[in-house]
Amino acid sequence: VDVVPVPDPALVVLVGASGSGKSTWASSRYRTAEIVSSDALRGVVGSGEHDLDASADAFALLEQVVAARLGRRLTVVVDTVGTDPARRRRWLAAAHEAGLPAVAVVLDTPAGVCRSRNAARDRPVPARVLDRQLATVAATVGLLDDEGWDSVLVATPDVPTHPGNTPSTG
Ligand code: ATP
Ligand code: MG
Repeated sequence: VDVVPVPDPALVVLVGASGSGKSTWASSRYRTAEIVSSDALRGVVGSGEHDLDASADAFALLEQVVAARLGRRLTVVVDTVGTDPARRRRWLAAAHEAGLPAVAVVLDTPAGVCRSRNAARDRPVPARVLDRQLATVAATVGLLDDEGWDSVLVATPDVPTHPGNTPSTG
């Protein structure tokens, strides 16, 4: 249960490394049509969600979807790693031009949890890539407060732990 409700309609920009739970967070709260995902769009215009060669086309579509939904004052949840400051600035400006609040949601999942979830996946992100994402997300958290978001929410997912399964930090 979220303590702080997210306004609706709104722009919701997710920030989190691979395996932090962004897509899970979004799909448990929003309808499919309200969520725009760079991974999903890679699957639409490329050979699959992990087809990095399709990134440019996927992000071009993502920008169109964000602009079109905000222009109609419809909620849009942007499911990307969220660490590109220029993209964040553009989305936030578009939301405010449309008169919608803009909310950043940080999936502040411990690094060790992201790593173990990633390792358990069919198509893990390379460890070096995940480490870079974790570092960039950590640096991004410090930037958000000065970017003009109406609110910055930090979602700390309840991470199931038991003795012997303590997530390693890093
Ligand atoms: P990516 O950037 O690679 O798309 P993501 O941030 O969207 O990653 P998810 O796909 O939502 O991450 O979650 C990764 C894995 O962690 C999934 O197997 C999911 O079931 C699990 N997971 C996500 N959130 C939680 C949670 N709150 N509690 C337990 N498991 C979770
Ligand atoms: Mg995802």
